Amino acid sequence: MIKTKITVGHSNIADFLQKYQNVEHFLAYCKQCQNYNSKWSCPPLAVNPRTYLDDYSEIYLIGLQMFYDEETKRQVNTKEKIVDFSAKLLRKMKNKFSDELLTIEKEFPNTVSFSSGGCAWCCKCTRSSGQPCRKPEKMRYSLDSFGIDLGKVTEEFLNIKLLWGLDKLPDYHTLIHALAVKDDTDGEILQKRLENLSIEAETVIL
Ligand code: SF4
Repeated sequence: MIKTKITVGHSNIADFLQKYQNVEHFLAYCKQCQNYNSKWSCPPLAVNPRTYLDDYSEIYLIGLQMFYDEETKRQVNTKEKIVDFSAKLLRKMKNKFSDELLTIEKEFPNTVSFSSGGCAWCCKCTRSSGQPCRKPEKMRYSLDSFGIDLGKVTEEFLNIKLLWGLDKLPDYHTLIHALAVKDDTDGEILQKRLENLSIEAETVIL
């Protein structure tokens, strides 16, 4: 059985960006990613990554960890299985996590959510074929696309060590999503709502 855990941190957005954003540096890495210019959620964005967040005052970072039990580790025991299992599970969980935050966006007007990594709603994104996004109501930009140092955010801000492994399934994987809010949001209620998120792990058939 895969257990999940939610961790929430929040910051004034100006302080957060000053500490963790370096657009030039991190977008250079994005250019080496297969999602670059291939997914509408990824760079180059339709919005300016340096100014898009200017209207928001606070940002909530939400980490979703998926802890693997010994039986899962025993079954997912080759490099091929680890790659296949991780890709399938993380895609399902990313979409489930995004859906939860889209619901919260509706409950708290003047908020916008961010995903981690490339958008995973469609099997093949329309961007490469020059067509508009199929699900603009669900697509949210990846936090990485704004030049945010997600590794540092995860470790320093959420106190979670990012684990990866190809020879052995790590103890857990982590997805980092976020919610930016404007001045009029009741932060206390929102923080509780986020902390109480319950996102059960999906089943993956290998
Ligand atoms: S919703 Fe579909 S078309 Fe739009 S960015 Fe995501 S994968 Fe691409």
